[in-house]
Amino acid sequence: MKASNYSINTLKEMPADADIISHQLMIRGGLIRKVASGIYNWLPIGLRVLQKIEHIIRQEMNTAGGLEVTMPVVQPAELWQESGRWAQYDEGMLLKFIDRHQREFCLGPTHEEIITDLAKTELNSHRQLPINFYQIQTKFRDETRPRFGVLRAREFIMKDAYSFHIDQESLEHTYRVMHDTYARILDKMQLTFRAVDADTGNIGGSASMEFHVLADSGEDKIAFSTESKYAANIEMAEALSPPNEVTEIEPIQEIATPNARTIEEVSSYLETPTNRLIKTLIVKGRDTPFVALALRGDHQLNPLKAERIGIVSQPLTMATEEEVLSVCGASIGSIGIVSLNLPVIADRSAAAMRNFICGANKNGYHLTNVNWERDTQYTNVYDLRDVAEGDPSPDGLGKIKFTRGIEVGHIFQLGQKYSKKMNAKVLDAKGISRVMTMGCYGMGVSRLVGAVIEQHHDEKGILWPTIIAPFHIVIIPINAHKSDRVNQVTQEVYAQLIANDIEALLDDREGYRPGVKFMDSELLGIPYRLVISERGLEHNIVEITSRKSGDTRSLPVARATEKIIELVKESLNQ
Ligand code: ATP
Ligand code: MG
Repeated sequence: MKASNYSINTLKEMPADADIISHQLMIRGGLIRKVASGIYNWLPIGLRVLQKIEHIIRQEMNTAGGLEVTMPVVQPAELWQESGRWAQYDEGMLLKFIDRHQREFCLGPTHEEIITDLAKTELNSHRQLPINFYQIQTKFRDETRPRFGVLRAREFIMKDAYSFHIDQESLEHTYRVMHDTYARILDKMQLTFRAVDADTGNIGGSASMEFHVLADSGEDKIAFSTESKYAANIEMAEALSPPNEVTEIEPIQEIATPNARTIEEVSSYLETPTNRLIKTLIVKGRDTPFVALALRGDHQLNPLKAERIGIVSQPLTMATEEEVLSVCGASIGSIGIVSLNLPVIADRSAAAMRNFICGANKNGYHLTNVNWERDTQYTNVYDLRDVAEGDPSPDGLGKIKFTRGIEVGHIFQLGQKYSKKMNAKVLDAKGISRVMTMGCYGMGVSRLVGAVIEQHHDEKGILWPTIIAPFHIVIIPINAHKSDRVNQVTQEVYAQLIANDIEALLDDREGYRPGVKFMDSELLGIPYRLVISERGLEHNIVEITSRKSGDTRSLPVARATEKIIELVKESLNQ
């Protein structure tokens, strides 16, 4: 490709509204341009990268036995009503509209409904199973906070796959194959990632794992073990029960705590660490009006864990100030679990404590030396809190540490959630009609472009792994218009590289100083740069520089092409 016929649209200035590095570099490099909030144009350079990522995904999905299809972006309301998600899918995420005949539609945020409906007509015998359909296609989700460029867009590209099975065992097999396929795809792109246990969210189903690219800018917090392969989204990571405290039970005492409302204020007023306090949270119940949740003062409530307990409302809803006052007889800063006429659920760590402090249900007072067995009634113990760094890993090996990640993939065992509602059945070996079991497997294709940059950049710009770089090498001739020899060698090397399937960009733009071309090639992260100059040619050499290491080597002109092919091929296989 000759740069003079191409579209290189780099910017010197830092874009004002881009707050993380991948977004900044994608705008500065001219990979994308914003059209509206969370909606982007992909320019030629960006599209090349996107298509290379798609190619890797397609290859690996095909190897895993996936069958590519394309489903529509526009989806009829009826199918979503059948699955029950028309009203319920992640509040406001569905962009709905009506056509000229007043029929309702939405822009597809995901395709469970469409594929299940398709499977219903196309699949009728167990002999056709298992089968795994996939597509690489545009999705639309009306995200509340589109941000970070392509990382959280409204219109984005996803690879989504859906598998159909006669039983759970077959699903588990494909689920494992998809797990390994995802790991291979991310390895090929040279990403450092973790596969973590995850919540199934509004997609539903029994088991699910997320693939997170590790990056400080990631929106998700991941808990992992210092000693084992254990990793989980913080939403999911289990906090184990600590051993019960064994100190003697002391006499309970009421003490005045004027003006101390928060855990921190009470802790400093009583000169006691926050982990000797218990905080009580009043939330709405499912069948009873209210439920009390008790956690150690230094621990954080995990809403998902609370919602999983049958008696807590979903979504988790805190009682208002007035409600707390009427239920506990005191305001929020002074409430506790003694003589509380409500179901109480204690977090495991709270339940292990003795002689602790909690509110007295009397404004401006707390109780010390409170003990579950003597002072409270009706208490259930659950894992209610977020794990904390330093907690023991749930698998018994090592301690929990935190890191941040960008979710680039999510695999689910859906079971029969959609197939049952939508009546997708096949005949089994005995001729009996059976509801199919399903899996689904999403991967954020456009999000991956940003995720790679988050892990592969330096102060000059992007550092693409060669396999997804927009070009393998940029050729920069110095003063070609003044030197026939430079011009001639440039054209020869360029032609030979192209003939050998090396994706070379010849930067023949007129009116650009070499320094500017160098900076552009660095910003764009092209893995190799070949400089052809009169001075070099006097010694029969050209110079090649690695973007990553910055090392420059001289290559004899006669062997330059051969050497470059070798280097590029090597780095493609890294
Ligand atoms: P998130 O938690 O980041 O909102 P999700 O769990 O809602 O994502 P899934 O329904 O699991 O997303 O979709 C599969 C994949 O699609 C995700 O793993 C992610 O890589 C990608 N994806 C989801 N939402 C977006 C978005 N707004 N922009 C870009 N990619 C996205
Ligand atoms: Mg997800």
